[in-house]
Amino acid sequence: MITVSLRFYGDLNDLLTISTGQNQTTFERQLPGPTSVKDLIEGCGVPHTEVDVILVDSKAVDFSYLIADGNRISIYPVFNSLDIPEADRLQKPTAHYPRFLADVNLGKLARYLRLAGLDTAYRNDADDDDLIEQMQEENRVLLTRDRKLLMHKVVRHGYLPRSADPAEQLEEVLRRFDLFHELEPFSRCPRCNGSLQNVPKEEIIDRLEPLTKRHFDEFSQCIGCGQVYWAGSHRRRLDPKVKEIFDRI
Ligand SMILES: [Zn+2]
Repeated sequence: MITVSLRFYGDLNDLLTISTGQNQTTFERQLPGPTSVKDLIEGCGVPHTEVDVILVDSKAVDFSYLIADGNRISIYPVFNSLDIPEADRLQKPTAHYPRFLADVNLGKLARYLRLAGLDTAYRNDADDDDLIEQMQEENRVLLTRDRKLLMHKVVRHGYLPRSADPAEQLEEVLRRFDLFHELEPFSRCPRCNGSLQNVPKEEIIDRLEPLTKRHFDEFSQCIGCGQVYWAGSHRRRLDPKVKEIFDRI
């Protein structure tokens, strides 16, 4: 029998599926034999994608570390603001503009990320195998609230939105991947994820409603689905919380 003591820091405590007595506290786990620290952590309900630093007896280890009797293990989430030695971090930085893949339950978040200008793949009929395949082929960051899916060992970059509210999920993703200062809102089609490009009014004038024709002169068009947009068309009916987030970008 192996006995270790564990402490999860920050919002990792929100993900725990085992009872630890008190929140944010050290607790003990007993295991029948050696196991990787990844399996130990995920056995507590926390997917590896959420963990940035693991210290065992004050020394940084990676997910493959085999735990030993008496280990004291501290587990930290991603803190973008903290100065942590790069070598100790388990969540390697994603691309400058990460590309996302949202699971079937995050359709609204996908739409908001696209509106924020971020390349976000989404299909409402994708099963787990489809998601894993697309994530690997296109090197995308997997967004899902399905812990089991995030715990899959091939998932390198992922995030589990804590909130059930899509506007709050948008805020979480922008914060987690440190994207607040780098975005170009309304540069991508919320319907299909295609890029938008400017289009002369005369080319699309036949498709405009009379009021739009009269009041607007600048238009853009999706290179994917052909949808036409104009100033303000994106913002119509936008959740006030999302508007407020875009105003801060
Ligand atoms: Zn489109």
